Amino acid sequence: MGKNLAGRTAVITGASSGIGEATARALAAEGAAVALLARRAERIEGLAAEITATGSKAVACVADVQDRDAVLRAAEIVGAALGPVHILVNNAGVMLLSPFDAGKVDEWRRMIDTNLTGVLLVSDVFLPQLVAAQGDIVNISSVAGRTTGPNSSVYNATKWGLTAWSDALRKELIQASVRVIVVEPGAVATELTDHISDDHIREGAQGFYDSVGALQAEDIAAAIAFAVGQPQRVSLNEILIRPTGQAG
Ligand code: NDP
Repeated sequence: MGKNLAGRTAVITGASSGIGEATARALAAEGAAVALLARRAERIEGLAAEITATGSKAVACVADVQDRDAVLRAAEIVGAALGPVHILVNNAGVMLLSPFDAGKVDEWRRMIDTNLTGVLLVSDVFLPQLVAAQGDIVNISSVAGRTTGPNSSVYNATKWGLTAWSDALRKELIQASVRVIVVEPGAVATELTDHISDDHIREGAQGFYDSVGALQAEDIAAAIAFAVGQPQRVSLNEILIRPTGQAG
């Protein structure tokens, strides 16, 4: 195990499961102190205890990324426990696939408010610290931010939006030496598909994941650890990672 990130503090949103959980473990294994943000307290408290037991620093902060006041409170907890932040991983997200004409307005709002507005709110809160640290912002977009498909139109809109915002932000933050890194995973075996409310579409998505040999969350976490571990002159702007068996 290297300690490439020793002395750095990372905030990871959506750290209670899947890619966020694996990323917290990977960054901690590289020596970073990690702040775990999510809504499920038990999950992030358990993970913080597990990471602390390995000798790394970790703190759990319960927050809904849609709630700016909750994110501000989380930032205070992070500052008191771990000091200034150097790395922000905007990972929290939901994928509530449905045909557009099903009119699932509440699910559209949840996706937009979590995948897009939530990222903006969290980034705004931590940006002054990231600028002071010449730090890193890692945004977890998706292959769905490059391609489109039926039943995915609103999810596609959030991820295309996230990818576009990331690249514009990267240009804005060049003078501040803040790296903005977009990660675009293909199918990864996590809880993401469990929340799809349409039984037929959920089963179809899960069948697709099985058929392409979905990645493990640790595969994405390793790429994130690699990117933020690069020397400051190296900016891995965009990382597209599909399972070997996934075409589109
Ligand atoms: P999971 O469902 O396992 O993880 C999603 C995480 O987001 C959970 O920790 C959840 O925590 C958190 N989250 C959801 N809503 C909120 C909220 N309002 N406030 C705070 N946290 C929230 O799925 P993945 O690990 O797969 O997803 C992580 C990211 O990766 C997402 O952005 C997803 O779009 C993206 N992605 C995933 C792919 C895949 O195939 N799995 C492919 C491409 C991209 P809690 O419920 O405790 O709040």
